Amino acid sequence: MTAISATDSPTAPTGQPWTCPFCPLSCDSLHIAPAARPTLVDSDCPRAAAALSHFAASSASAVPRRDGRPADPSRAIAAAAAILAASRQPLFGGLATDVAGMRALYRLADASGAILDHANGDALMHSTRALQDRGVFYTTLAEIRNRADLVVCLGTNAVDHYPEFFRRTAAAPGAPARQVVLVGAAVDRATPGLGGCTIEEIPLVGDIFDTAALLAARIAGRGTAVSDPALDALVAGMQAARYTVIVWESGSLPEHGSLVAETIQRIVNALNRTTRAAAFCLGGGNGGYTANQVTTWLSGLPLRTGVHARGLAHEPQRYAAERLVADRAVDALLWVSSFGPELVPPESDLPLVVLGHPDLQGALGDRMDTVFIPVSTPGIGSPGHLFRADGGIVVPLTPIYADTLPTVAQVAADLARALAARRKPEQGVAR
Ligand code: SF4
Repeated sequence: MTAISATDSPTAPTGQPWTCPFCPLSCDSLHIAPAARPTLVDSDCPRAAAALSHFAASSASAVPRRDGRPADPSRAIAAAAAILAASRQPLFGGLATDVAGMRALYRLADASGAILDHANGDALMHSTRALQDRGVFYTTLAEIRNRADLVVCLGTNAVDHYPEFFRRTAAAPGAPARQVVLVGAAVDRATPGLGGCTIEEIPLVGDIFDTAALLAARIAGRGTAVSDPALDALVAGMQAARYTVIVWESGSLPEHGSLVAETIQRIVNALNRTTRAAAFCLGGGNGGYTANQVTTWLSGLPLRTGVHARGLAHEPQRYAAERLVADRAVDALLWVSSFGPELVPPESDLPLVVLGHPDLQGALGDRMDTVFIPVSTPGIGSPGHLFRADGGIVVPLTPIYADTLPTVAQVAADLARALAARRKPEQGVAR
């Protein structure tokens, strides 16, 4: 077993562009000011500012803890491995990490028979279910910039939770004039990226399920019992546009939001018979898209999959982390939150291993049966890669300082080695 090792990473030279890891828009043209705390120079994004407030200008000095007390790194790894070894059904939750971290966690899940779910698993399942049930037609940030002449934000103004969305998708030079229609949402006209756009706000008709269904019926040419002039005008606008993009936000949808996601895809499919259209899903924060993509490419199945000794099992409802914990269907929890301290594990008295931002220890206090291992944040203290909101695009992250903390990938690899070492005497015995 190796002790937890510090990262050995190149850091972003002062003045070089920096890619923000704090939401899946992955803004990549930003700069960090050298100050007591890292500060964005060229964006006032409140989400990034809030996230950066949890970091100093140089590496944190934090040590692992066991039941709240400082622990030698090797002993912390051994104690965490003992928790996993004693578990008949562990759950790996949170999963807020980068590509390398998730790859290593998957291997550890395979070694321990764990179920995998992300902290934003409910929202992720809305888009995943739509993909599984009907297929999806998504676009990219670049395609919106270059081609979209109508952007319809359904049930979201995008910028409340993804503040740089309109700047990231602002019409490129030579792109067609653009209309932005917000359905059931409002936006500040001075928002960067909206300059030159025609902006309209119209109300939902009923709730978002009703509105999406009405739009789908009208675009398919079916009559509906309910008539709404603003919605009729939007339908006409979508049919006349050269390229409509429907933007929706998975985390803002209520339960059964996958029905809305699937209805949006029906609208997109119908429009594509006569013109061009695509959807864009805002979601996948805290490494959610990354965890889902990596799990899918390694196993063939998305999150909410158990990597059991008897085979893989994907249970999009039953394997929801909070439900598993509440039902005591699992007997140990490994929780990963490397981007900040806000993502705390669900309340329980389960044996707990946390790989987290150093400040997360504050939420754990002196909880018993708990091992806390502070880890580096990708893009802050260590390099990494994240999947961007537009699906298959992976962005590299350059740290702003060289961390003394290990990465999630390093800790997960150490845990896998410790677990294997514990099981050597049992070789030949099924886990
Ligand atoms: S919009 Fe997202 S990626 Fe861009 S600066 Fe804000 S938090 Fe970072």
